[in-house]
Amino acid sequence: MKEVVLSKELIGEIGRIYKEMESGYDEVARALKFSCDGCPDNCCDSYFLHHTYTEWAYLWEGVRELAEEKQLELIERARQYILECAQAEARDERPQIMCPLNEQGRCLLYTHRLMVCRTHGVPASMRRPDGQTLNFPGCFRCQKIVKKKFVHDSQAPHVERTPLLQRLVAVERELMGEKIHLYPRVKLTIAQMLVKGPPAIPTPHCERSDSKSNV
Ligand code: SF4
Ligand code: SF4
Repeated sequence: MKEVVLSKELIGEIGRIYKEMESGYDEVARALKFSCDGCPDNCCDSYFLHHTYTEWAYLWEGVRELAEEKQLELIERARQYILECAQAEARDERPQIMCPLNEQGRCLLYTHRLMVCRTHGVPASMRRPDGQTLNFPGCFRCQKIVKKKFVHDSQAPHVERTPLLQRLVAVERELMGEKIHLYPRVKLTIAQMLVKGPPAIPTPHCERSDSKSNV
């Protein structure tokens, strides 16, 4: 297996995409006078799956900055998370378990947290490649604000996610190369990304040491 490694340029581009996501979010949150302050909920226990090698590799850039002991502690928590998820799913329930990166309400890898962690909360919309538009109403608290202030949800300010998602897809294409369609699809929780280690893909046949002996 060969580790999927982000170049400096791609790391820079991901950082810019994430920053723009945050400023788009902040703008809408300001316009709606919405914040997470005082919320009885903590969205870090929401069950989300993530779909790119890009975000997986970027998350690990952050993990590697932590002391080894902390990394091991995280991985242990991630194992426990996976176990509890399986138990919830066996009961036919949607898992609601605190993310292993959350320590006392704070994200341990705040600068490396994933896209959904940066966008969940305020209303947003997104155009899919097939042309269909998806609308996200925001979290329950934000929906209450929108209902109070606007006659119809569509009048509320929202984040347009499409251009930034397209840039993230472009990073994924550059990272994975032209054989992107041959690699296993990513569909993982953060806990699974931690336990599996940094992303790795099968070594291409032409790069295997045993391939030379066949020449
Ligand atoms: S996004 Fe909404 S539900 Fe989640 S913590 Fe913030 S205010 Fe609460
Ligand atoms: S990565 Fe951080 S922000 Fe995202 S769910 Fe986990 S603790 Fe929360």
